[in-house]
Amino acid sequence: MSPLQFPFPRSGGSRTQSRFPFPLPQRRPSSQPGQRRPVFGQSGVGSGLKMRLILALAIAAFAFLSYYGKPGDINQVTGKSERVALTEESQEIQLGLQAAPEMVGHHGGPSRSIADQQRVQMIGFRLLDALEKDLRVQNRSNPYYKSFQFTLLADRRSVNAFALPGGQVFITHALYDQLETEGQLAGVLGHEIGHVLARHGNKRMAKQGLFQGLAGAVGVLGGDQRSAQMAQMVSSVLSMKYGREHELESDQWGVRLCRFGGYDPRAMIGVMEILDRATGGQGPPEFFSTHPKPANRVEYIKKVIAEEFPNGVPPGLRP
Ligand SMILES: [Zn+2]
Repeated sequence: MSPLQFPFPRSGGSRTQSRFPFPLPQRRPSSQPGQRRPVFGQSGVGSGLKMRLILALAIAAFAFLSYYGKPGDINQVTGKSERVALTEESQEIQLGLQAAPEMVGHHGGPSRSIADQQRVQMIGFRLLDALEKDLRVQNRSNPYYKSFQFTLLADRRSVNAFALPGGQVFITHALYDQLETEGQLAGVLGHEIGHVLARHGNKRMAKQGLFQGLAGAVGVLGGDQRSAQMAQMVSSVLSMKYGREHELESDQWGVRLCRFGGYDPRAMIGVMEILDRATGGQGPPEFFSTHPKPANRVEYIKKVIAEEFPNGVPPGLRP
């Protein structure tokens, strides 16, 4: 399966089929029977285009203003200014809680192994407690601390871990069973905690509003369905790239939280090797589809470890 697929409906009718992966925009002959007439400027094609251009610019301007016009929201954990859809943590937490039951149901419910369930929860909170200590020194706090919940899912087929906004973190049994050390589990959970702390879901929602607005503007400009499809593709590609940046940022959080929790961050390299093996080098399936290939991430993680441990990884850390 190719890593990027765009769900384009097949164009029917008598139009020439493009051999490109997406249909090329074609000039629409105004005399073609059954064709919709231009909505704006019924007097002629030229004025119709002008109206479409004005409307497209207005839509694009509105999308940009909605996104960039507002001041950023300060992330309480990092102190950085960010553009998010929801500025209230309670809304994010609520969103995560609402989405959680469906996720859990989709993966066969929570694991019945109480001991494993507790182990996941214990290591997750060990990382969060270690983070608390570091934040206190910087006069910061983690607004999601109390809402974090770590759930081991019964699913023994899909090798996966994911997080919902506000602190719902999940790992499937299929991934859990393959992990060889506690440090590897800490690395996976640390990565997922990173998605929550950096508000990736929330940022994506804000960015999606911008992309959809811009895609709508391109669609209006072209004036036909194919342009709208093209615009949609542009939007998908942009959001995809955005997702990858978030994955690397979460890998960085994974390394950092390992350091805080006293785990050897090199365990994360082991996790990547496990993911690589589990998927035959294709990268993990499902929710991991936006994750960069494990092999590429190893180099990145090595770089981050060198940054987090400028004097080298000390001995005696938990593997
Ligand atoms: Zn991730």
